[in-house]
Amino acid sequence: MPQTAKWWINKGDKIECLLCPRLCVLSLGETGFCGIRKHESGELSASGYGMVTAESPDPIEKKPLYHFYPGAIAWSVGFAGCNLHCPFCQNHNIARAKPDSGRFTSPSKVIDDAISSGAEIIAYTYSEPTIHFEYLMDCAYRASSVGLKNVLVTNGNLNSKPGLELLSKMDGVNIDLKSWDSDYYKKTLGGNLKAVKHFIETALEHCWVEITTLVVPGDNDGEDEIESISEWIASLSNDIPFHLSAYHPAYKYSRPATSTNKMKQVYDVASKKLHFVYIGNLGIANNTHCPDCKRTLISRSAYSVQMAMRDKNCPRCGLKVPGVFK
Ligand code: SF4
Repeated sequence: MPQTAKWWINKGDKIECLLCPRLCVLSLGETGFCGIRKHESGELSASGYGMVTAESPDPIEKKPLYHFYPGAIAWSVGFAGCNLHCPFCQNHNIARAKPDSGRFTSPSKVIDDAISSGAEIIAYTYSEPTIHFEYLMDCAYRASSVGLKNVLVTNGNLNSKPGLELLSKMDGVNIDLKSWDSDYYKKTLGGNLKAVKHFIETALEHCWVEITTLVVPGDNDGEDEIESISEWIASLSNDIPFHLSAYHPAYKYSRPATSTNKMKQVYDVASKKLHFVYIGNLGIANNTHCPDCKRTLISRSAYSVQMAMRDKNCPRCGLKVPGVFK
């Protein structure tokens, strides 16, 4: 059910999409790189509006968000398309699917399904949700009006005005920061490092933020690169949770998975700069410890969570734990 999209201008008989830094200029009938936004009848159309390719009640830890409603269920919805072309994409079947893949699900139905499942949160996730800007805004508005929280899992490759509008509706976000090399971002991933950094800075002004870097052997697993990323995150706040995820061979990449040793190395590097660093995709227990007295505050095991905080503080030293807790 296509809808007229936001964020575009006419360029002669063409249309320029202003949603993401790709700024696709589209002739009549042409679809942008993301495979979703299309020039139709002199307007930009959100051609995959409401076409949900995946929906599931997931633990919030799976997004991953570790300091946002720990243990809560997030009704998770995903869609076709993506505005990057990462050659190691772990979700390429969805990311490269056609816009009409999936099943039309109205925003009201998403809210009803979330409530029926017992979820307290709606998560826009799985591939790249932001290219479905209009649908996300419609869902998020309805969700917040009935007391549900909204969280976004995104590559953050969005222009500043749409980014601001979307983030103002979100309660939490996990943003990929895939590399510290702007050439690699552009050539290998098709993204824009400057835009992603700006998106992260904007998000920090509006909602709870966690950051993820997929550690890809030979691409971004150098200690200097992880150190640079960690230093920059720490310059914003050393309380931002940082998830280092192990890569597994997928899509066009067949090189071996990131080793446990490598993940421990980059964990040590990041932990020198940041209070809350977690390792993902290896089945390692990722407990949260008090940065001051080292007391375990949140224990996690296969998405089961045990909280040991007292009134959102460390029960031993009283430190306020950063995050959004019930
Ligand atoms: S959102 Fe899609 S159509 Fe718009 S600029 Fe980005 S890739 Fe191109």
